[in-house]
Amino acid sequence: MKITAVRIETLEVALESPFVIASSALAANPCDLVRVETDEGLTGFGEAVPAYEFTGDTLWSVEDVIGEYLGPSVIGLDPFDIEAIVRLWERELFTVGNQAAQAALEMALWDLQGKALGRPLCDLLGGRTRDGLVEEVTLAWDSPEALAEKTQRMRADGVTAYKVKAGDAPERDEQRVAAVREAAGPGARITVDANQGWWDARTAVRAIKLLSPYDIAFVEQPVRMDDLEAARFVRERVDVPIALDESVRGPREALACVKAGACDIFVIKLMKTGGILGAIKVNAIAEAAGIPVAMGNMGESSLGLAAHLHASIALANVEYWDADLPWRPGGLKRDIGNGLTGEVRDGVSTMVVPEGPGIGIVLDEEAIAAQRTTRRW
Ligand SMILES: [Mg+2]
Repeated sequence: MKITAVRIETLEVALESPFVIASSALAANPCDLVRVETDEGLTGFGEAVPAYEFTGDTLWSVEDVIGEYLGPSVIGLDPFDIEAIVRLWERELFTVGNQAAQAALEMALWDLQGKALGRPLCDLLGGRTRDGLVEEVTLAWDSPEALAEKTQRMRADGVTAYKVKAGDAPERDEQRVAAVREAAGPGARITVDANQGWWDARTAVRAIKLLSPYDIAFVEQPVRMDDLEAARFVRERVDVPIALDESVRGPREALACVKAGACDIFVIKLMKTGGILGAIKVNAIAEAAGIPVAMGNMGESSLGLAAHLHASIALANVEYWDADLPWRPGGLKRDIGNGLTGEVRDGVSTMVVPEGPGIGIVLDEEAIAAQRTTRRW
């Protein structure tokens, strides 16, 4: 099978309400949709949701990088040769950054492999270590009252795990976490994500000490991404486990975190690792170091979320899964694909991996056409 064309569309997928965290505020999710066509008539789909503050990618940089560099580099190649293709990007194109662009194109290659073999993607990644993953809903910055109301609604739907976005003034963070704990009940799992917002180690230690009475499973990215010394300083002074997200992009950063003793948990996202192959390599370093993984996302639609889900159920070292179903309060107004489902199992909302070949998502062409966007500058 040979790749004959790579096509890209730029979308802004509307959100029900703005997504505000320490490092960004979004009214809609930027989304680059990639379609890779082959001489056998199969088309693979991939998605980038670029996050400038994580990897420097933007909606338009992903379009440019795939259009000018990555896309032309794969024409005529076999989509099964992913390791060789990723190495070509690294050692012949000398690609730096642009992980979201790499991830979108790489995702489409995996989708093609599954479609060619008639097997779901997880079967190509080692098979299933579980059937589904507990849903964890992300709660962006909002008033404590609004967060409590959202949490109560989701608790009624069987949601038992919440990620509260923090990194604001520590006292405001405490009010938000207290409101969510009260509404979620004592049995719920709550994690806190500062998204670098506390910035320095001393502020982070003060904030985490304020939050620790609320039974926090772990605190994510308390300090800025490139300061592993600060992360270790915090880790040595609080009882709550420390997870690193922005700090952990590819295998080299993961190894640096291990050597620095900077964290207890890694957060892996396909948009940071440049795709599934990079995620597998980071996970291997984590597993060897005795560090469990939380798989996360950047607010992808069903397509990107399903790709994460396949990888997450295939990797036994993944202990946490930070993703909510796209139709939760504040989520996507109009998803661009169908096939991702959830169900309540023993009272717990669980995301179910699609059964179809490849990623298993059927695109909604009307929703895509309605949300296309063009450059404003
Ligand atoms: Mg995070």
